[in-house]
Amino acid sequence: MMSKFVNFPYKKVLVLGLAKSGFATAKVLNNHQIDLVVNDLSAEESDPLVQKLKAKDIKVVLGSHPLELLEDIDLIVKNPGIPYSNDLLVEAIKRNIPIITEVELTYHLLSKQTLIGITGSNGKTTTTSLVREMFKESKENIVTAGNIGTVSIEVVEDLNPEDNLLLELSSFQLQGTKTFKPHIAALLNLYEAHIDYHGSFLKYCEAKANIFKNQTNDDFLVYNYDDDQVAKAARKSEATLIPFSIKTSVKEGAWRDEKYLYFKSEQIIRIKDIVLVGDHNLSNILAAVAIAKLRNIDTQSIRNVLKVFSGVKHRLEFVCMKQGRYFYNDSKATNILATEQALKAFQSPTILLAGGLDRGDDFSPLIPLLKNVKTLVLFGETKEKLAQIGLEAGLNNVFLVDTMKEAVEKAYKESNESDVILLSPACASWDQYKTFEERGDSFIESIKDLTEI
Ligand code: ADP
Repeated sequence: MMSKFVNFPYKKVLVLGLAKSGFATAKVLNNHQIDLVVNDLSAEESDPLVQKLKAKDIKVVLGSHPLELLEDIDLIVKNPGIPYSNDLLVEAIKRNIPIITEVELTYHLLSKQTLIGITGSNGKTTTTSLVREMFKESKENIVTAGNIGTVSIEVVEDLNPEDNLLLELSSFQLQGTKTFKPHIAALLNLYEAHIDYHGSFLKYCEAKANIFKNQTNDDFLVYNYDDDQVAKAARKSEATLIPFSIKTSVKEGAWRDEKYLYFKSEQIIRIKDIVLVGDHNLSNILAAVAIAKLRNIDTQSIRNVLKVFSGVKHRLEFVCMKQGRYFYNDSKATNILATEQALKAFQSPTILLAGGLDRGDDFSPLIPLLKNVKTLVLFGETKEKLAQIGLEAGLNNVFLVDTMKEAVEKAYKESNESDVILLSPACASWDQYKTFEERGDSFIESIKDLTEI
């Protein structure tokens, strides 16, 4: 089913930046007979994407961003990664040419579908995955896109009217939106991030707040009541407000007590039955529960998901239990803050595997969090620095190794039944691996290779 552009007043569009989203954008515009030109700085003439566009008679300009391109353009759709300081964009802003991303374009192509958008500094992928699983479990139509996997412009033309379109949205995608309006928006938290791109924390918050700026009171804003910046932003919203909190009983939203999670007055699940660990994940779960309940997902389906969902891969993911030891893979923890979150999640004696690329960080914020850590197994460029932190925290069991395999074997040997063995490196992986995913996979493989004690 091919959708129609709704309220799309633009005649000639400049697609800035090729890659996946630029290519998909160009294809969609072309399908709808909208005049366009694609401009990319680094793509080569021989790039298959360039060839495919040219085969469709689409004009492609490579190698520079000539200002003449702006002459008869009345809209720019840019790749979210291109900064606004780009010369062509600076000139476009001067000329009042609107600049959007493919997310806004997607919005123009929706008909009856229900749009759900999730944003925040942290927890987007986890929350989006939880919502998707809850919908799937209750056999509701759900298509997920955005920052997670496929770009939204690639899926939008294949949607059925009764589908829910669930988008994970970054601040880059939200900056510059004009009419974009999810029926349900979620704002998870606002930390200092990407200031280099947005210019200031205020501008970054403003971009995130675009997720709800066009909402009316028929729409819902699910927001983190515990985050002052978020709560402040939400006060400006015209949507029906649905707070979530792990600290306060916000009975008009999603909340908890000692034992249970609730949505409004309904008990949803016993906290003990939830597989995901960590307060930050409880927060993500409450946001997901609120979204699911607003779309009438049945409580049993929500419960079923929370009883088995063991985390998005590499994000404090429960890997397995082996001989009574619990293995967790948090390879995505490429900075100190993420490792702090992970350590806060466990009360049991923990063996921490950490280390990696040396960026000159001061690891001392980790010291107070090492109280449940009984053993450190360290690798990578930062292993000596981290060992020093271990000593300062009063730990006697600190081991330096070279490889992940050795680290896992050492941790296993040093462990007792019911211990947690946690990979949460607090460092990027690039000294030993191409990506944090590769590092996490190497951890999982090494666990599989363990011979019984
Ligand atoms: P994102 O998609 O926003 O990057 P993820 O769900 O992939 O978020 O989680 C990435 C990391 O962010 C996690 O490993 C964890 O350390 C941290 N994190 C996740 N959720 C939260 C939260 N609600 N608050 C603070 N930190 C979080």
